[in-house]
Amino acid sequence: MTSSQIQHRLTEYFRSAYGTDCDLLARAPGRVEFIGNHTDYNGGLVMGAAIDRSIFAAVRKRDDAALRFASEFSPERPERRLDDLSKFDGEQSWANYPLGVFATLLNEGLRTENGFDLALASDLPAGAGLSSSAALETGVGLALASLYGLEISKADLVRIGRAVENDFLGVPTGPLDQSCSGFGERNQLVFIDCRTLNVELVPFPAECRIHIFNSGISHALVDSLYSKRHDECREALRLLRQNQSDLEHLADAPESALDALPSDTPADVIKRARHVIRENQRVLTTRTALTEGDIERTGRLLIESHESSRTLFENSCPELDTLVEILAETPHVHGARLSGGGFGGTVIALTSEAFGADETRRVQDAYEKAHGRRLETLACNVADGAELLPTD
Ligand code: ADP
Ligand code: MG
Repeated sequence: MTSSQIQHRLTEYFRSAYGTDCDLLARAPGRVEFIGNHTDYNGGLVMGAAIDRSIFAAVRKRDDAALRFASEFSPERPERRLDDLSKFDGEQSWANYPLGVFATLLNEGLRTENGFDLALASDLPAGAGLSSSAALETGVGLALASLYGLEISKADLVRIGRAVENDFLGVPTGPLDQSCSGFGERNQLVFIDCRTLNVELVPFPAECRIHIFNSGISHALVDSLYSKRHDECREALRLLRQNQSDLEHLADAPESALDALPSDTPADVIKRARHVIRENQRVLTTRTALTEGDIERTGRLLIESHESSRTLFENSCPELDTLVEILAETPHVHGARLSGGGFGGTVIALTSEAFGADETRRVQDAYEKAHGRRLETLACNVADGAELLPTD
């Protein structure tokens, strides 16, 4: 379904939910992590892309103080009032994202006596590692800021979205998701310095696509595995600081500093640190390769990134490794790597346009043969970030 078809569907849905037309519409995309695995919380670099799958938000200002929420995603129609922004729970929890956006705008100085009606539609799968939550925050942020006549920059949108996630909902996410959703542009990757939050755009070859393969694996212990990796990175930084007291972030350490660590440093701690330091360099090298239009080299860097996750950071799993192996042997694939937290989840591939249904089927069949699971796939273009849309 095209973007304008979803837009049309949403305006109809808004009308049926609220019995009136919406005042305005906005759209914000999901994202993939292109390269830079577990570099974000180590003060490093990461590159992502906004994809051509989005959440669409329609809003209308009300004369009274009611805040009403509707989404095609859910039969629930939660409501609040301006003087009660308490969080929803259970089946209504999805509305905490738009509620949190509004609460954050109020925190930042919005004054109003008017509530709103809000409706959502989407062609972005939720909970599939494509950051539908950030798309929701960024899209609703843009819609509500415009509805209330606030000047809002892309950097503001990113900051507000992160505040919803980190402060309102208490989920400690990095800057990648909202930065891609807010700053993304067609055929441009979003390069983020997680220390300064500075964002740059890096050209993505127009003849390439990003294919996303969902392994269907979700590790039961994933939260404790992530927190173990966080602890190991923190321990590496603590030890490195004993030799270099002004070292602020693990990603800034030279790899040679690892040789000077005490001899009883756990091998795993050194491996995690080596991954972070090398991966950070790899993000820089990938930026150079892309700027030079060197697609083959970019592809090799993706494979190297996966190897590093597999052997040093040890956040891969057999299914993800199989996928990368299959993809490396498939025509029209330049490179592939696990994308996101790891221990399951997704693999992305940089492909040429010629990668089509035959190649997709070939990868699915080989994966099913190896692991007995059907593979979900999504072919994406690198697309524009959040924008207001004309109402029809
Ligand atoms: P991800 O961000 O990786 O997609 P999250 O668990 O962070 O996964 O966010 C998914 C949640 O975002 C859903 O459970 C739901 O609460 C909300 N969400 C996503 N898409 C929609 C939608 N179209 N309408 C309402 N809520 C949505
Ligand atoms: Mg999310």
